[in-house]
Amino acid sequence: VGTKLPRVGTTIFTVMSALAQEHDAVNLGQGFPDFDCDPKLVDCVAEAMRAGHNQYPPMPGVPALRDAIARKIGALYDHRYDPGLEITVTAGATQGILTAILAVVRPGDEVIVLEPCYDSYEPNIELAGGKAVFVPLGRDGEPGSFRPDFERIAAAITPRTRALLVNTPHNPSASVWTREDMHALAELLRPTDIVVIADEVYEHMVYDGQAHESVARHPELAARSFIVSSFGKTYHVTGWKVGYVAAPAPLSAEFRKVHQFNVFTVNTPVQHALARYMADPAPYLELPAFYQHKRDLFRDGLGRTRFRLLPSEGSYFQCVDYSAISDRSEVEFCRWLTTEIGVAAIPLSVFYAGGREQRVVRFCFAKKDETLRSALQRLAQL
Ligand code: PMP
Ligand code: GLN
Repeated sequence: VGTKLPRVGTTIFTVMSALAQEHDAVNLGQGFPDFDCDPKLVDCVAEAMRAGHNQYPPMPGVPALRDAIARKIGALYDHRYDPGLEITVTAGATQGILTAILAVVRPGDEVIVLEPCYDSYEPNIELAGGKAVFVPLGRDGEPGSFRPDFERIAAAITPRTRALLVNTPHNPSASVWTREDMHALAELLRPTDIVVIADEVYEHMVYDGQAHESVARHPELAARSFIVSSFGKTYHVTGWKVGYVAAPAPLSAEFRKVHQFNVFTVNTPVQHALARYMADPAPYLELPAFYQHKRDLFRDGLGRTRFRLLPSEGSYFQCVDYSAISDRSEVEFCRWLTTEIGVAAIPLSVFYAGGREQRVVRFCFAKKDETLRSALQRLAQL
């Protein structure tokens, strides 16, 4: 068969999880919690099912859930989305990103992608017939930084640029955008009609007292943005695959045209459960402290090895430079770490379209403290 995506194979997350299982390694590769969600959330799903919420919901999502999402965004980021017209519930952030891209990108359009980046972006753009234009994160004179360089981004803009993807907090680098970054982006885009797709799935995981800079906080950006988030990350239920997209009415209308013939709707009882569970903001307000504890525990342990720690300002990832430990390529180092040391990680090179060797790998610390301790025990020999 002729393939539409010749460069795409099995994702590194699947490959590393399988290798970790085969070698009985502690899996700090693929990003997902190894602990369970709040049992109250499970009760909410069971109750929704018993109450008969088992048929198709309205196409854009259960109204009570869209209301709860609009209230949350209003309270946290001071921007009011109309839940009737501007919020759509999706099958995880993955579908939200693909659908947003399919809704706005036409064949021949360019989409600016800052790399390293999440692995679904480029194939999504290709499926829409667009072309990903990669701009590396990082600034001259700031080694190891993954900050956006707006001069480089400006230089990538052409008359064909249709959209720009922003991801903060960032997977894999764990960096977060500042208010100044958002102002610089708003200024850069002002004379253009470029649409922003803001992947904010780690919005509730920002550390050291910093605030998450949602594009929703910046009216000029919000007016041209799709914001994508995921309940999987926030409520420790990555397998439920429910998220949402918030965007101004004209963008949401285009989004929904694609959404209704892409998935039409997503899981009804889970949407009812999430609507009820969201009434209490405590679970997401407590998330930064919950994960900061894990980040600190993990960093403390790694600080006693020859790994060099990169900053982890947000998300549930920690990147490390291993150049004092090994000369292997990142992929080879991750294989060796998994099979010989018993801890799985993800090479940073796979988040670059052309691959790029920096001797940096990513660990995920969304794990029980005992899992992190057992990984640290194995890594202590390095
Ligand atoms: N974007 C980023 C940056 C992610 O890390 C992930 C989760 N791996 C997703 C999108 C996809 O989220 P979901 O599981 O809700 O589809
Ligand atoms: N988002 C997760 C990660 O970056 C995994 C997602 C996946 O397995 N596709 O590790």
